[in-house]
Amino acid sequence: PKWLIQSGFEYVREFEQPDYLLRNTWIVVRVDGRAFTKMCARYGFEKPNDRRALDVMNTAAKAVVADLPEITIAYGVSDEYSFVFHKSCNLFERRASKLISTIVSTFTANYVHCWPKFFPDMPLSFPLPTFDGRAVCYPTVQNLRDYMSWRQADCHINNLYNTTFWSLVQLGGMDNKEAEKALAGTLAADKNEILFSRFKINYNNEPEIFRKGSVVFRDYELVDPASHKTSETVDALAEPVQQSKTQNENDKKRRSKARIVVEHLDIIRDDFWDRRPWILS
Ligand code: ATP
Ligand code: ATP
Ligand code: MG
Ligand code: MG
Ligand code: MG
Ligand code: MG
Ligand code: MG
Repeated sequence: PKWLIQSGFEYVREFEQPDYLLRNTWIVVRVDGRAFTKMCARYGFEKPNDRRALDVMNTAAKAVVADLPEITIAYGVSDEYSFVFHKSCNLFERRASKLISTIVSTFTANYVHCWPKFFPDMPLSFPLPTFDGRAVCYPTVQNLRDYMSWRQADCHINNLYNTTFWSLVQLGGMDNKEAEKALAGTLAADKNEILFSRFKINYNNEPEIFRKGSVVFRDYELVDPASHKTSETVDALAEPVQQSKTQNENDKKRRSKARIVVEHLDIIRDDFWDRRPWILS
């Protein structure tokens, strides 16, 4: 029929740039809130940590993980979330723009949707929350672990600074400039000391969600790290066998049925990963 004949406009497709991400690498998509410093003021976030705002982030992240079974783990702090696609993931043929835009819009839609549950007295209006996104490929498990450690270390450094800064302002009566000056050049130990001696705050007793951030993953049975270490660790280093298509389908089904949890755990040390070998296997 006539409508099947090429229109002559199709050549414009050739202008599209291929953006397939490198095969067999762990893809991390990180989203970050746009101008959240202003959003904090606009929507009255408590400083340094608004628990409601973190709950909105975590609820949106859970929805993203539930929607995309190819995601094995996610980590969130402040106005950012990192989503890790398994290295075997072939969603959208690993096209970066498709992966990033799907994560960003799924995350943003869920963020806006669940906002009223956590901010019942603060309806969203303009400016509405929006997020940017980027994708980075990590070739080895070590690189991926280092990426996750980097984000959690950042969470710790920023939170210790912010907790001390806002104590000086809110409890110590300083203005922002004075607090900034008081903290210039201080080390972690100095900040702990300021918190304890001046405000009787033991930093280690601050809520884990503030100190460690949030980890989202599928919860299967925990592995006892003592029984695990030996042969399985060796196996993990061996070349993976190519999985059959049905095996992949079964895995996908199993993943989409598993309970998704949000926890506030140390992901820098080995223990978290040793006890949950399915996340990186
Ligand atoms: P950009 O658009 O470049 O990302 P930004 O203003 O969002 O600009 P960020 O570096 O992303 O800059 O910083 C986010 C800001 O939002 C930080 O100041 C952080 O303390 C604040 N923030 C994020 N989440 C919370 C929260 N739950 N409670 C209090 N403050 C928060
Ligand atoms: P993908 O996730 O790959 O994009 P899709 O199902 O969204 O899958 P599209 O090629 O984007 O596939 O097609 C969108 C479909 O939605 C088409 O079938 C189109 O006719 C239908 N559609 C979009 N907008 C409307 C509309 N306003 N009214 C009726 N149908 C619509
Ligand atoms: Mg940014
Ligand atoms: Mg931001
Ligand atoms: Mg940020
Ligand atoms: Mg379409
Ligand atoms: Mg479509």
